[in-house]
Amino acid sequence: MSTTRDEVLASLRALLGEGAVVVEPHELERYEKGWRYGRGKALAAVRPSSTEEVSRLLRHASAAGLRVVAQGGNTGLVGASTPDGSGEMLVLSLERLSRTVEVDPVDRTVTADGGVLLSTLDAALAGHGLLFPIDLGADPSIGGMVATNTGGTRLLRYGDVRQNLLGLEVVLADGTVLDLMRPLRKNNTGFDARQLFVGTSGAFGVVTKAVMRVVPRPVQRVTALVGVSSGAAVLGLLARLETQLGEVLTAFEAIGAAALAPVFRHQPRLRDPFGGRPPAYTVLVELSSTLDPSRLALDDLLESALGEQLEAADGGEMTDVFPGKPSELWEIRHGVSESLRQEGEVLAFDISVPRSSMAAFVDAARETVAAGWPFVRFCDYGHWGDGGVHVNLVWKPEDAPRPTAELKAELQPRLYDLAVNRFRGSYSAEHGVGPHNQAFYDLYTPELVREVCRLLKARLDPAGLLGTVRLG
Ligand SMILES: Cc1cc2nc3c(=O)[nH]c(=O)nc-3n(C[C@H](O)[C@H](O)[C@H](O)COP(=O)(O)OP(=O)(O)OC[C@H]3O[C@@H](n4cnc5c(N)ncnc54)[C@H](O)[C@@H]3O)c2cc1C
Repeated sequence: MSTTRDEVLASLRALLGEGAVVVEPHELERYEKGWRYGRGKALAAVRPSSTEEVSRLLRHASAAGLRVVAQGGNTGLVGASTPDGSGEMLVLSLERLSRTVEVDPVDRTVTADGGVLLSTLDAALAGHGLLFPIDLGADPSIGGMVATNTGGTRLLRYGDVRQNLLGLEVVLADGTVLDLMRPLRKNNTGFDARQLFVGTSGAFGVVTKAVMRVVPRPVQRVTALVGVSSGAAVLGLLARLETQLGEVLTAFEAIGAAALAPVFRHQPRLRDPFGGRPPAYTVLVELSSTLDPSRLALDDLLESALGEQLEAADGGEMTDVFPGKPSELWEIRHGVSESLRQEGEVLAFDISVPRSSMAAFVDAARETVAAGWPFVRFCDYGHWGDGGVHVNLVWKPEDAPRPTAELKAELQPRLYDLAVNRFRGSYSAEHGVGPHNQAFYDLYTPELVREVCRLLKARLDPAGLLGTVRLG
């Protein structure tokens, strides 16, 4: 076995060069462990630096029967970017395939290699007054964002990756390079093959390049935190602000009291405007515009819009309004996930329901948890503007009557059933599909859809060598 392993590693080094193959355990570790879920053992991490090298690698892996999982920024949250525990898979890291970032201001597009990170893309676009409008509290790669169809905090205004993707270059399991790189905004010529690779977790091919639509970069942003007394009142505020503010409303994020309090416990540098008494919901409202303040005074607009809401709200639906610097208020919002992790065991859900059902869903989920698992804290926050909510269930292991694994096995089916069957929602609003939620993909995906996926997989990756997700 060790000879075989050595032979495989030698062949990979001969194929791509010594520096492209990582095998030392201390170096390999970061490719083997996911951000939240996923911990496996890799044969090696291989780091090609061009499409041609990815093609050569996959052709070789296919001939040798080696299984491969693509990895970009490794910020995915469903355990899909890391190898299984067999020690036989290769991690195909895109980190060295990250040289090309070409901005075309006339087409208003950016062409980037699959391993380019969002922060790099943003820095390149800033110089042209342009923006790739996907924004989140992590720094993922282009290929990973395509494979998970990333949403983010400004989806309300700009849509998700799918809605901003124009062209794609993909390498299939046998090394074939599929060129779908036409940067066209209109192209109604039948089946849209790009969509095979969006949100399918790298199961059908490895994304080596993409053309993305970009937008004029806002020159001003203003934000405020708004205290709101209930989920129903959050929805009322959203509807009124959308009517009042139109397209300048860029983000509308709501954080439940139980999710907000830990942020100030664990991030002492952040100022708590509520003085330790958070309202039922804290809404982060952001407006942005490409017009400068002399033509459109956004801070006045936000102040007057929220002032009107505060006056009109009867029954104390809105409790407070705190305007603040965008960077500081977003730090509070982005600090939620990490702060909750420091509070004990966390079982995280990434759920969406129709926007109109958000409050009813969250109330029903909270009641379900309180009735069956009273030692669990129900912490919810997320993208209410898009009908997305991250429910985090938090408990201290010493308070729990049963081991964590048993509790997770009880809680997951209950909340997913509620979201999918009772509220016609999704068990994975934006994080995609991976080993973490494979069982629920199997449960909720119509059989005909899975059959089509099996047919596609049989054509694109007949030996089933790519990825850790089973779509068929
Ligand atoms: C703090 C934090 C906040 C987040 N907030 C959000 C949010 O608001 N909205 C949201 O949608 N997501 C969010 N995420 C999730 C995550 O950032 C996204 O899923 C991200 O798009 C994954 O990109 P990545 O490059 O890190 O991919 P990885 O984690 O490396 O991989 C994810 C999946 O994509 C596949 N893949 C990676 N690269 C390629 C490629 N080149 N070709 C084919 N398949 C590939 C992998 O095999 C895996 O299946 C957050 C994550 C964190 C840690």
